[in-house]
Amino acid sequence: MFAEILTVGDELLTGNTVDSNAAFIAKKLTERGYWVRRKTTVGDDVEEIKTVLREILDRKPEVLVISGGLGPTHDDVTMLAVAEALNRKLVLCEECLERIRAFYRELYEKGLIDDPELNEARKKMAYLPEGAEPLENTEGAAPGAYIEHEGVKIFVLPGMPREMKAMLEKEVLPRLGKKKFVQRKLLAEITDESKLAPILNETLERFKVRIHSSPKGFGKYIGIILFGESEEEIERAKAFMESKGIRFAEGW
Ligand code: ATP
Ligand code: MG
Repeated sequence: MFAEILTVGDELLTGNTVDSNAAFIAKKLTERGYWVRRKTTVGDDVEEIKTVLREILDRKPEVLVISGGLGPTHDDVTMLAVAEALNRKLVLCEECLERIRAFYRELYEKGLIDDPELNEARKKMAYLPEGAEPLENTEGAAPGAYIEHEGVKIFVLPGMPREMKAMLEKEVLPRLGKKKFVQRKLLAEITDESKLAPILNETLERFKVRIHSSPKGFGKYIGIILFGESEEEIERAKAFMESKGIRFAEGW
């Protein structure tokens, strides 16, 4: 179960915006049992987006989550790039157009904007790659898209963190399979990672787990995250490490 994340936006490359979306998506996918193998970031450029998309699709992840560049302005080109990379046309999603119309009418009625009409820029957001299922944006105008392409589940989400998060929770996670692995956070009462290293290696060889380790608590502990397919396998790996003399404090 491996996944990839693609974030799109010039502001991410200049460092003007910290890519918190990639971290949020990675966390949710990991909790869901996916192994996020790569995160890629590109600017708002159709050719760049297409190039990395093709590279990602060649690696055949089970899931690809894309975020950013769905808005009304000329530099929001993600849907176009996705359509072109998949050799699909961009087609009008009538249901999306109606939602966008209602969205701007509501803003107008609240006095937040002075024109409720659907102009070209607003209409642009209603075009999705052919065959895509629209994903509802409860926090903004631009719909997302869900496309199954040669065994890859592709989700295209907005860049605005509030919109992205809502869509991920309400539209993406329910479309993903049941949790297939679990993670356990432990604190090893040992301060020298080099002493821990051979034990971790042996654990990795013997059990079906992945392990992340990093120093914690001002040199008092090493934080360990065990990822496994079942609680039982994690318990066995933990017991093995204990048998090698590692003492664990409560998790973090
Ligand atoms: P919208 O329909 O909300 O305009 P969009 O998909 O066009 O969405 P962007 O124009 O890419 O989104 O970004 C909107 C805002 O969200 C910007 O202020 C941007 O800084 C922020 N943003 C975009 N991508 C990310 C990211 N990966 N992490 C954090 N913030 C982001
Ligand atoms: Mg953008």
